[in-house]
Amino acid sequence: MDLVIKNGIVLTMNKGMEIVHQGWVGVDKGCIAGIGSHDTLPVPGAKTVIDARGGIIMPGLVNCHTHAPMTLFRGLARDLPPLAWLNRHVSPADERLTREAVYQGSLLACAEMILSGTTCFCDSYWFGEAVARAAATTGMRAVVGEVLNGFSGCGEMEDGFDRAQKMVAQWGKPGRVTVAVAPLFAPDADPELLKRAADLARKNRVPLVIEVAQTGSEVSQIARKHGKSPVEFLESLGLLGPGLVACHSIHLTENDMELYRHYHVRVAHCPESDMALGSGVAPIPRLLGLGITVGLGTDACASNGDLDLFCEMDTAAKLHKVVAMDPEVIDAETAVKMATINGAKVLGLDRITGSLETGKRADIIVVGLSGHHLVPMYNPYSHLVYSAAGSDVAASVIDGKLVMDNRALLTMDVGAVMDGVQTLCQNLGGL
Ligand SMILES: [Zn+2]
Repeated sequence: MDLVIKNGIVLTMNKGMEIVHQGWVGVDKGCIAGIGSHDTLPVPGAKTVIDARGGIIMPGLVNCHTHAPMTLFRGLARDLPPLAWLNRHVSPADERLTREAVYQGSLLACAEMILSGTTCFCDSYWFGEAVARAAATTGMRAVVGEVLNGFSGCGEMEDGFDRAQKMVAQWGKPGRVTVAVAPLFAPDADPELLKRAADLARKNRVPLVIEVAQTGSEVSQIARKHGKSPVEFLESLGLLGPGLVACHSIHLTENDMELYRHYHVRVAHCPESDMALGSGVAPIPRLLGLGITVGLGTDACASNGDLDLFCEMDTAAKLHKVVAMDPEVIDAETAVKMATINGAKVLGLDRITGSLETGKRADIIVVGLSGHHLVPMYNPYSHLVYSAAGSDVAASVIDGKLVMDNRALLTMDVGAVMDGVQTLCQNLGGL
Protein backbone atom coordinates (compact mmCIF):
# COMPACT_ATOMS: atom_id res chain seq x y z
CA MET A 1 0.00 0.00 0.00
CA ASP A 2 1.09 3.56 -0.59
CA LEU A 3 -0.10 4.94 2.72
CA VAL A 4 -1.43 3.69 6.03
CA ILE A 5 -2.98 5.83 8.74
CA LYS A 6 -2.88 3.83 11.96
CA ASN A 7 -3.63 4.04 15.65
CA GLY A 8 -6.87 5.99 15.52
CA ILE A 9 -10.62 5.76 16.01
CA VAL A 10 -11.94 5.20 12.50
CA LEU A 11 -15.31 6.91 11.88
CA THR A 12 -16.32 5.38 8.58
CA MET A 13 -19.58 7.36 8.05
CA ASN A 14 -20.71 4.35 5.98
CA LYS A 15 -24.34 3.19 5.89
CA GLY A 16 -24.03 1.34 9.18
CA MET A 17 -22.05 4.25 10.72
CA GLU A 18 -19.39 1.72 11.74
CA ILE A 19 -16.62 2.81 14.07
CA VAL A 20 -13.34 0.90 14.41
CA HIS A 21 -11.61 1.64 17.71
CA GLN A 22 -7.82 1.37 17.50
CA GLY A 23 -8.07 1.05 13.74
CA TRP A 24 -6.21 1.80 10.54
CA VAL A 25 -7.03 2.88 7.00
CA GLY A 26 -4.88 1.87 4.05
CA VAL A 27 -4.56 3.75 0.77
CA ASP A 28 -3.33 2.44 -2.55
CA LYS A 29 -3.31 4.15 -5.96
CA GLY A 30 -5.48 6.98 -4.65
CA CYS A 31 -8.19 4.70 -3.28
CA ILE A 32 -9.06 3.31 0.13
CA ALA A 33 -7.60 -0.18 0.01
CA GLY A 34 -8.51 -1.45 3.46
CA ILE A 35 -9.88 -0.58 6.89
CA GLY A 36 -9.30 -2.70 9.95
CA SER A 37 -8.54 -3.00 13.61
CA HIS A 38 -5.06 -2.88 15.11
CA ASP A 39 -4.55 -6.66 15.06
CA THR A 40 -5.05 -6.75 11.28
CA LEU A 41 -2.57 -3.93 10.52
CA PRO A 42 -0.68 -4.96 7.37
CA VAL A 43 2.97 -5.83 7.92
CA PRO A 44 5.42 -4.50 6.78
CA GLY A 45 2.96 -1.67 6.27
CA ALA A 46 3.23 0.95 3.58
CA LYS A 47 5.57 3.44 1.91
CA THR A 48 4.20 6.17 4.20
CA VAL A 49 2.81 5.52 7.66
CA ILE A 50 0.95 8.17 9.63
CA ASP A 51 0.40 7.66 13.33
CA ALA A 52 -2.97 9.18 14.32
CA ARG A 53 -1.86 8.99 17.98
CA GLY A 54 -5.28 7.96 19.20
CA GLY A 55 -7.07 10.68 17.21
CA ILE A 56 -10.09 10.36 14.94
CA ILE A 57 -9.57 9.09 11.38
CA MET A 58 -12.57 10.17 9.31
CA PRO A 59 -13.66 11.28 5.83
CA GLY A 60 -12.56 14.77 4.82
CA LEU A 61 -15.28 17.41 5.14
CA VAL A 62 -17.31 18.61 2.15
CA ASN A 63 -18.08 22.33 1.82
CA CYS A 64 -21.19 22.38 -0.41
CA HIS A 65 -21.31 26.11 -1.05
CA THR A 66 -18.61 28.75 -1.04
CA HIS A 67 -17.05 31.52 -3.11
CA ALA A 68 -13.35 30.81 -2.55
CA PRO A 69 -11.88 34.04 -4.04
CA MET A 70 -13.86 36.11 -1.53
CA THR A 71 -11.21 35.37 1.12
CA LEU A 72 -9.96 38.67 -0.30
CA PHE A 73 -13.02 40.39 1.24
CA ARG A 74 -12.78 38.83 4.69
CA GLY A 75 -13.98 41.49 7.13
CA LEU A 76 -14.45 44.06 4.36
CA ALA A 77 -17.87 45.33 5.47
CA ARG A 78 -19.74 43.73 8.33
CA ASP A 79 -22.88 44.26 10.38
CA LEU A 80 -24.84 45.68 7.46
CA PRO A 81 -28.22 44.76 5.91
CA PRO A 82 -27.77 42.26 3.04
CA LEU A 83 -28.63 44.65 0.20
CA ALA A 84 -26.44 47.49 1.49
CA TRP A 85 -23.64 45.00 2.14
CA LEU A 86 -23.91 43.55 -1.35
CA ASN A 87 -24.62 46.65 -3.44
CA ARG A 88 -22.43 49.19 -1.67
CA HIS A 89 -19.44 47.04 -0.73
CA VAL A 90 -19.21 43.50 -2.06
CA SER A 91 -20.37 43.94 -5.67
CA PRO A 92 -18.08 46.95 -6.32
CA ALA A 93 -15.21 44.90 -4.84
CA ASP A 94 -16.12 41.90 -7.03
CA GLU A 95 -15.95 44.17 -10.06
CA ARG A 96 -12.33 45.05 -9.31
CA LEU A 97 -11.03 41.51 -9.26
CA THR A 98 -8.89 40.16 -12.05
CA ARG A 99 -8.28 36.55 -13.01
CA GLU A 100 -4.98 36.65 -11.11
CA ALA A 101 -6.65 38.06 -7.99
CA VAL A 102 -9.26 35.28 -8.15
CA TYR A 103 -6.44 32.73 -8.33
CA GLN A 104 -4.59 34.22 -5.34
CA GLY A 105 -7.76 34.43 -3.23
CA SER A 106 -8.61 30.83 -4.11
CA LEU A 107 -5.15 29.61 -3.07
CA LEU A 108 -5.65 31.26 0.31
CA ALA A 109 -9.10 29.66 0.59
CA CYS A 110 -7.67 26.23 -0.23
CA ALA A 111 -5.02 26.68 2.48
CA GLU A 112 -7.68 27.56 5.04
CA MET A 113 -9.98 24.74 3.99
CA ILE A 114 -7.26 22.06 4.06
CA LEU A 115 -6.01 23.26 7.45
CA SER A 116 -9.54 23.00 8.88
CA GLY A 117 -10.33 19.53 7.52
CA THR A 118 -12.16 20.28 4.28
CA THR A 119 -11.08 18.09 1.38
CA CYS A 120 -13.80 18.98 -1.15
CA PHE A 121 -15.61 22.22 -1.96
CA CYS A 122 -18.21 23.47 -4.39
CA ASP A 123 -17.54 26.99 -5.65
CA SER A 124 -19.50 29.66 -7.48
CA TYR A 125 -17.65 32.67 -8.82
CA TRP A 126 -16.50 34.45 -11.95
CA PHE A 127 -13.19 33.34 -13.53
CA GLY A 128 -14.00 29.78 -12.42
CA GLU A 129 -11.03 28.61 -14.44
CA ALA A 130 -8.71 30.36 -11.96
CA VAL A 131 -10.55 28.75 -9.01
CA ALA A 132 -10.21 25.34 -10.68
CA ARG A 133 -6.49 25.93 -11.22
CA ALA A 134 -6.03 26.80 -7.54
CA ALA A 135 -7.84 23.60 -6.51
CA ALA A 136 -5.77 21.59 -8.97
CA THR A 137 -2.42 22.93 -7.69
CA THR A 138 -3.23 22.66 -4.00
CA GLY A 139 -4.52 19.10 -4.32
CA MET A 140 -8.11 19.80 -3.31
CA ARG A 141 -11.19 18.08 -4.65
CA ALA A 142 -13.53 20.69 -6.08
CA VAL A 143 -16.67 21.24 -8.10
CA VAL A 144 -16.16 24.66 -9.64
CA GLY A 145 -19.15 26.62 -10.82
CA GLU A 146 -18.69 29.31 -13.42
CA VAL A 147 -21.02 32.24 -12.73
CA LEU A 148 -22.42 33.28 -16.09
CA ASN A 149 -23.90 36.66 -15.36
CA GLY A 150 -23.87 39.75 -13.20
CA PHE A 151 -20.25 40.84 -13.56
CA SER A 152 -19.33 43.52 -16.07
CA GLY A 153 -15.60 42.65 -16.08
CA CYS A 154 -16.48 39.31 -17.67
CA GLY A 155 -18.12 40.83 -20.72
CA GLU A 156 -21.51 40.05 -22.22
CA MET A 157 -23.79 37.18 -21.34
CA GLU A 158 -22.66 35.18 -24.37
CA ASP A 159 -19.12 35.45 -23.03
CA GLY A 160 -20.39 33.90 -19.80
CA PHE A 161 -21.78 30.92 -21.71
CA ASP A 162 -18.57 30.67 -23.72
CA ARG A 163 -16.53 30.54 -20.53
CA ALA A 164 -18.85 27.96 -19.00
CA GLN A 165 -18.61 25.79 -22.16
CA LYS A 166 -14.84 26.03 -22.05
CA MET A 167 -14.86 25.11 -18.36
CA VAL A 168 -17.00 22.07 -19.11
CA ALA A 169 -14.71 21.06 -21.96
CA GLN A 170 -11.60 21.42 -19.80
CA TRP A 171 -12.81 20.14 -16.43
CA GLY A 172 -16.05 18.30 -17.21
CA LYS A 173 -14.60 14.79 -17.19
CA PRO A 174 -14.52 12.76 -13.97
CA GLY A 175 -11.51 13.76 -11.91
CA ARG A 176 -10.44 15.53 -8.75
CA VAL A 177 -11.54 18.93 -10.08
CA THR A 178 -14.86 19.02 -11.90
CA VAL A 179 -17.28 21.68 -12.98
CA ALA A 180 -20.76 23.06 -12.26
CA VAL A 181 -22.94 25.75 -13.84
CA ALA A 182 -23.84 28.55 -11.44
CA PRO A 183 -26.14 31.28 -12.75
CA LEU A 184 -26.89 34.17 -10.41
CA PHE A 185 -30.54 34.02 -9.45
CA ALA A 186 -31.97 37.43 -8.60
CA PRO A 187 -35.53 38.74 -8.94
CA ASP A 188 -34.54 40.39 -12.24
CA ALA A 189 -32.76 37.30 -13.60
CA ASP A 190 -33.60 36.57 -17.20
CA PRO A 191 -35.74 33.37 -17.34
CA GLU A 192 -34.17 32.43 -20.68
CA LEU A 193 -30.70 32.63 -19.18
CA LEU A 194 -31.71 30.37 -16.30
CA LYS A 195 -33.18 27.83 -18.73
CA ARG A 196 -30.06 27.87 -20.89
CA ALA A 197 -27.85 27.43 -17.85
CA ALA A 198 -29.94 24.45 -16.74
CA ASP A 199 -29.71 22.93 -20.24
CA LEU A 200 -25.94 23.32 -20.22
CA ALA A 201 -25.71 21.58 -16.83
CA ARG A 202 -28.12 18.80 -17.78
CA LYS A 203 -26.47 18.09 -21.15
CA ASN A 204 -23.08 17.75 -19.52
CA ARG A 205 -24.37 15.99 -16.39
CA VAL A 206 -22.83 18.54 -14.05
CA PRO A 207 -24.55 20.15 -11.05
CA LEU A 208 -26.56 23.35 -11.38
CA VAL A 209 -25.79 25.53 -8.36
CA ILE A 210 -28.26 28.29 -7.45
CA GLU A 211 -28.76 30.46 -4.37
CA VAL A 212 -32.50 30.27 -3.66
CA ALA A 213 -34.93 32.01 -1.29
CA GLN A 214 -32.10 33.76 0.50
CA THR A 215 -33.87 36.95 1.57
CA GLY A 216 -37.40 38.09 2.28
CA SER A 217 -37.06 40.83 -0.35
CA GLU A 218 -36.16 38.24 -3.03
CA VAL A 219 -39.35 36.35 -2.14
CA SER A 220 -41.60 39.43 -2.26
CA GLN A 221 -40.08 40.76 -5.50
CA ILE A 222 -40.52 37.43 -7.30
CA ALA A 223 -44.06 37.16 -5.95
CA ARG A 224 -44.84 40.63 -7.33
CA LYS A 225 -43.26 39.92 -10.70
CA HIS A 226 -44.27 36.33 -11.31
CA GLY A 227 -46.96 35.56 -8.73
CA LYS A 228 -44.88 32.66 -7.48
CA SER A 229 -42.40 31.75 -4.77
CA PRO A 230 -38.75 31.53 -5.95
CA VAL A 231 -38.94 27.73 -5.88
CA GLU A 232 -42.26 27.66 -7.81
CA PHE A 233 -40.72 30.07 -10.32
CA LEU A 234 -37.72 27.76 -10.81
CA GLU A 235 -40.11 24.83 -11.22
CA SER A 236 -42.06 26.71 -13.91
CA LEU A 237 -38.77 27.09 -15.83
CA GLY A 238 -38.00 23.37 -15.50
CA LEU A 239 -35.01 23.92 -13.23
CA LEU A 240 -35.93 21.63 -10.36
CA GLY A 241 -34.30 18.20 -10.44
CA PRO A 242 -31.74 15.96 -8.77
CA GLY A 243 -28.87 17.93 -10.35
CA LEU A 244 -29.90 21.15 -8.59
CA VAL A 245 -27.91 22.26 -5.56
CA ALA A 246 -30.23 24.77 -3.89
CA CYS A 247 -28.04 26.92 -1.64
CA HIS A 248 -29.45 28.71 1.43
CA SER A 249 -33.16 27.86 0.86
CA ILE A 250 -34.25 29.92 3.85
CA HIS A 251 -37.70 31.29 3.02
CA LEU A 252 -39.53 28.16 1.89
CA THR A 253 -43.26 27.49 1.98
CA GLU A 254 -44.72 24.04 2.66
CA ASN A 255 -45.33 23.74 -1.09
CA ASP A 256 -41.67 24.66 -1.85
CA MET A 257 -40.45 21.91 0.45
CA GLU A 258 -42.84 19.44 -1.15
CA LEU A 259 -41.45 20.47 -4.58
CA TYR A 260 -37.89 19.87 -3.32
CA ARG A 261 -38.94 16.41 -2.15
CA HIS A 262 -40.77 15.61 -5.37
CA TYR A 263 -37.88 16.65 -7.64
CA HIS A 264 -35.08 15.29 -5.38
CA VAL A 265 -33.51 18.72 -5.07
CA ARG A 266 -30.50 18.85 -2.71
CA VAL A 267 -29.83 21.65 -0.28
CA ALA A 268 -26.62 23.39 0.82
CA HIS A 269 -27.30 24.83 4.27
CA CYS A 270 -25.15 27.85 5.23
CA PRO A 271 -26.21 28.73 8.79
CA GLU A 272 -23.38 31.11 9.74
CA SER A 273 -23.61 33.26 6.64
CA ASP A 274 -27.41 33.32 6.90
CA MET A 275 -27.11 34.41 10.53
CA ALA A 276 -24.45 37.06 9.81
CA LEU A 277 -26.60 38.67 7.13
CA GLY A 278 -29.72 38.42 9.28
CA SER A 279 -31.33 36.51 6.41
CA GLY A 280 -33.27 33.99 8.48
CA VAL A 281 -33.11 30.31 9.41
CA ALA A 282 -33.57 27.60 6.79
CA PRO A 283 -36.16 24.99 7.84
CA ILE A 284 -33.59 22.18 7.95
CA PRO A 285 -35.34 19.84 10.43
CA ARG A 286 -38.45 19.95 8.21
CA LEU A 287 -36.39 19.26 5.07
CA LEU A 288 -34.62 16.34 6.74
CA GLY A 289 -37.99 15.04 7.92
CA LEU A 290 -39.12 14.98 4.28
CA GLY A 291 -36.06 12.92 3.36
CA ILE A 292 -34.33 15.77 1.50
CA THR A 293 -30.53 15.56 1.36
CA VAL A 294 -28.85 18.47 3.13
CA GLY A 295 -25.15 19.32 3.22
CA LEU A 296 -23.29 22.20 4.85
CA GLY A 297 -21.65 25.21 3.23
CA THR A 298 -19.72 28.10 4.69
CA ASP A 299 -20.75 30.50 1.93
CA ALA A 300 -18.14 33.23 1.36
CA CYS A 301 -15.55 34.50 3.82
CA ALA A 302 -17.06 37.92 3.17
CA SER A 303 -20.30 36.99 4.94
CA ASN A 304 -19.17 34.09 7.13
CA GLY A 305 -15.77 35.32 8.29
CA ASP A 306 -14.08 31.94 7.81
CA LEU A 307 -14.24 28.70 5.82
CA ASP A 308 -14.12 26.34 8.80
CA LEU A 309 -16.73 23.56 8.62
CA PHE A 310 -16.13 22.63 12.27
CA CYS A 311 -17.72 25.99 13.17
CA GLU A 312 -20.52 25.29 10.70
CA MET A 313 -21.33 21.88 12.25
CA ASP A 314 -21.43 23.43 15.72
CA THR A 315 -23.66 26.30 14.58
CA ALA A 316 -26.01 24.09 12.55
CA ALA A 317 -26.57 21.78 15.49
CA LYS A 318 -27.20 24.59 17.99
CA LEU A 319 -29.16 27.01 15.79
CA HIS A 320 -31.97 24.56 15.09
CA LYS A 321 -32.18 23.54 18.73
CA VAL A 322 -32.79 27.12 19.80
CA VAL A 323 -35.33 27.75 17.04
CA ALA A 324 -37.24 24.57 17.88
CA MET A 325 -36.52 24.90 21.60
CA ASP A 326 -35.70 21.22 21.43
CA PRO A 327 -32.16 19.88 22.13
CA GLU A 328 -32.88 16.68 20.20
CA VAL A 329 -33.13 18.52 16.86
CA ILE A 330 -30.03 18.06 14.57
CA ASP A 331 -27.98 15.83 16.86
CA ALA A 332 -24.19 15.67 16.53
CA GLU A 333 -24.26 12.57 14.34
CA THR A 334 -26.61 14.34 11.90
CA ALA A 335 -24.33 17.39 11.81
CA VAL A 336 -21.26 15.23 11.01
CA LYS A 337 -23.25 13.43 8.30
CA MET A 338 -24.21 16.79 6.75
CA ALA A 339 -20.52 17.75 6.66
CA THR A 340 -19.37 14.43 5.14
CA ILE A 341 -21.45 11.79 3.35
CA ASN A 342 -24.56 13.91 2.86
CA GLY A 343 -22.45 16.79 1.57
CA ALA A 344 -20.97 14.37 -0.97
CA LYS A 345 -24.52 13.33 -1.94
CA VAL A 346 -25.51 16.97 -2.44
CA LEU A 347 -22.69 17.33 -4.97
CA GLY A 348 -23.35 13.94 -6.59
CA LEU A 349 -19.95 12.69 -5.40
CA ASP A 350 -20.99 10.07 -2.86
CA ARG A 351 -19.60 7.21 -4.94
CA ILE A 352 -16.21 8.89 -4.75
CA THR A 353 -15.95 10.60 -1.36
CA GLY A 354 -17.79 11.41 1.89
CA SER A 355 -17.19 8.14 3.75
CA LEU A 356 -14.36 5.72 4.39
CA GLU A 357 -15.18 2.62 2.34
CA THR A 358 -12.92 0.33 0.36
CA GLY A 359 -12.78 1.40 -3.28
CA LYS A 360 -13.68 5.05 -2.72
CA ARG A 361 -11.10 7.73 -3.43
CA ALA A 362 -9.03 8.38 -0.32
CA ASP A 363 -10.17 11.72 1.15
CA ILE A 364 -9.24 11.31 4.80
CA ILE A 365 -8.48 13.57 7.74
CA VAL A 366 -7.00 12.92 11.16
CA VAL A 367 -8.42 14.95 14.02
CA GLY A 368 -5.96 15.04 16.91
CA LEU A 369 -7.42 14.49 20.36
CA SER A 370 -4.44 15.62 22.43
CA GLY A 371 -5.78 19.12 23.18
CA HIS A 372 -6.88 20.00 26.71
CA HIS A 373 -10.32 20.89 25.35
CA LEU A 374 -10.84 17.34 24.10
CA VAL A 375 -10.23 15.38 27.30
CA PRO A 376 -12.04 13.14 28.22
CA MET A 377 -14.05 11.84 25.27
CA TYR A 378 -17.33 9.93 25.59
CA ASN A 379 -18.65 10.28 22.05
CA PRO A 380 -16.60 11.12 18.93
CA TYR A 381 -19.53 12.78 17.10
CA SER A 382 -20.36 15.20 19.89
CA HIS A 383 -16.65 15.94 20.30
CA LEU A 384 -16.31 16.82 16.61
CA VAL A 385 -19.35 19.09 16.64
CA TYR A 386 -19.26 20.77 20.05
CA SER A 387 -15.63 20.63 21.21
CA ALA A 388 -13.12 20.22 18.39
CA ALA A 389 -11.94 23.06 16.13
CA GLY A 390 -10.58 23.13 12.60
CA SER A 391 -7.13 23.68 14.12
CA ASP A 392 -7.30 20.19 15.68
CA VAL A 393 -7.01 18.62 12.22
CA ALA A 394 -3.52 17.09 12.21
CA ALA A 395 -3.31 15.51 8.76
CA SER A 396 -5.19 15.48 5.48
CA VAL A 397 -5.11 13.11 2.54
CA ILE A 398 -6.94 14.03 -0.68
CA ASP A 399 -7.31 11.64 -3.59
CA GLY A 400 -4.72 9.43 -1.91
CA LYS A 401 -2.13 12.19 -1.60
CA LEU A 402 -0.90 13.56 1.71
CA VAL A 403 -1.53 17.32 1.44
CA MET A 404 -1.12 18.31 5.10
CA ASP A 405 0.88 16.60 7.83
CA ASN A 406 1.32 17.76 11.38
CA ARG A 407 -0.35 21.11 10.45
CA ALA A 408 2.15 21.74 7.62
CA LEU A 409 0.75 22.23 4.11
CA LEU A 410 2.67 20.10 1.62
CA THR A 411 1.23 21.40 -1.65
CA MET A 412 1.84 25.13 -1.26
CA ASP A 413 3.93 27.75 0.44
CA VAL A 414 1.22 29.32 2.58
CA GLY A 415 3.50 32.18 3.70
CA ALA A 416 4.07 33.19 0.09
CA VAL A 417 0.32 32.97 -0.61
CA MET A 418 -0.43 35.22 2.38
CA ASP A 419 2.21 37.75 1.27
CA GLY A 420 0.80 37.69 -2.26
CA VAL A 421 -2.72 38.38 -0.98
CA GLN A 422 -1.52 41.22 1.26
CA THR A 423 0.22 42.92 -1.66
CA LEU A 424 -2.70 42.31 -3.97
CA CYS A 425 -5.24 43.84 -1.55
CA GLN A 426 -2.97 46.85 -0.97
CA ASN A 427 -2.66 47.35 -4.72
CA LEU A 428 -6.39 46.98 -5.26
CA GLY A 429 -6.72 49.69 -2.58
CA GLY A 430 -10.02 50.93 -1.21
CA LEU A 431 -11.83 47.64 -1.86
ZN1 LIG B 1 -23.24 32.19 -1.63
